[in-house]
Amino acid sequence: MKASSFHYKTLKEVPKDAELVSHKLMVRANMIKPLASGIYSWLPLGLKILNKVEEIIRKNMNEYGCLEVLMPMVQPKSLWDETGRSEKMGQELLGFSDRNDRKFYLGPTHEEVITDICRQELQSHKDLPKTFYQIQTKFRDEIRPRFGIMRGREFLMKDAYSFDIDENGMNKSYATMKECYKKIFDEIGFDYKIVKADSGAIGGNMSEEFHVLANSGEDTLVFNEKDFSSNLELLEEDLKKQIEDKINNNDFSDIESKHGKLSIMKGIEVGHIFELGNKYSESMGLSVQYNNVQKILEMGCYGIGVSRIVAATIEQNHDDQGIIFPRSISPFDCSLISINENKSNKVKEKSLEIYNLFITNNIEVFYDDRDVSLGVKFSDANLMGNPYQIVISEGNIQENLIEVIDRRDQSKSKIKETELLGLF
Ligand code: ATP
Ligand code: MG
Repeated sequence: MKASSFHYKTLKEVPKDAELVSHKLMVRANMIKPLASGIYSWLPLGLKILNKVEEIIRKNMNEYGCLEVLMPMVQPKSLWDETGRSEKMGQELLGFSDRNDRKFYLGPTHEEVITDICRQELQSHKDLPKTFYQIQTKFRDEIRPRFGIMRGREFLMKDAYSFDIDENGMNKSYATMKECYKKIFDEIGFDYKIVKADSGAIGGNMSEEFHVLANSGEDTLVFNEKDFSSNLELLEEDLKKQIEDKINNNDFSDIESKHGKLSIMKGIEVGHIFELGNKYSESMGLSVQYNNVQKILEMGCYGIGVSRIVAATIEQNHDDQGIIFPRSISPFDCSLISINENKSNKVKEKSLEIYNLFITNNIEVFYDDRDVSLGVKFSDANLMGNPYQIVISEGNIQENLIEVIDRRDQSKSKIKETELLGLF
């Protein structure tokens, strides 16, 4: 991609309401645009990143045998009345009526819809086990939408639902999803922790969360070295209070407890897995014939905050110049920066030659061919955060070398043109 034909307008100013680094950088780098409180458009640069996250998730879900579906965002209120969640979810549900006065909600999650589908589709134990998933827009009328897309009202989620004949099967489906999630978060390159969690409005028995470790995280995680890891929310009152007091004093040192020595860290929840049991299948009548009895199915549900992952990545990977994307989801593999190409034909020709070399070898390159100062090119490249910056200048051409800057540590090296593709 050439900068001159892309849409890329970086901002110097930081949005007034932005507290988090990821929010500031995403707006400055022209990745997202606010429309209303907690509601954002994704501009071309941001969408490239979001699509890469989606693809990593989709690839792994498929590899683990899950089947992709796409359910409607608009859901009849009557379904929510069957499970009694109209009341339970309360004000997070945004509802409206159609012209015939039928009531609907914008879907905040899809347990009811998938259970309704499965009570029609799953007739026999031979149809089991099954895990369906989708990658889809959710709407939750959050009390405090904030931090940009980190806690939006409209956001992109991957939600999956497993169906088994018995508890043993459900445990297996849950374990499989847990493995799959590890693969996904490893592939993105996160430093993360898995902790025991509260199952909240979704309900059910066993539940664990995946947290990206970052000081700006809204959740507090506590864990010892071997067998204990939990969201602070779940701890017994006394210990919880003790840890909260420590944190209020900005003290994150280890503490002694009945669970042993506990480490305290802040995390951003990017994934949540639940064993639901028969909570939804019972109230909505999802069962199949098995050994001459009607057997109520055992379900699990599994969420990943697709759009939140982009913000969490930036929280974990940035410096004072901008974003440092891991290769897995960086918008481009590298930035190509030409020095004074409008004054030097040699630089222009060499830059084009390298650009074409990348294109023919399927390396995604962002070629900054704009007629702007060098300072602007470098500061914009640092803001965008591609892993490498390839610099073409007259001096380097004379030496027959190409300069490469590693975005993470800003280290510079000069390599031969023949070594260039080996970087990727
Ligand atoms: P939180 O505690 O952050 O509100 P949750 O427990 O309500 O999350 P789930 O219902 O488990 O979240 O949703 C699955 C995933 O969707 C979460 O792990 C999170 O990554 C993401 N998510 C939830 N709410 C939002 C939001 N308002 N904006 C962006 N992502 C969200
Ligand atoms: Mg929530």
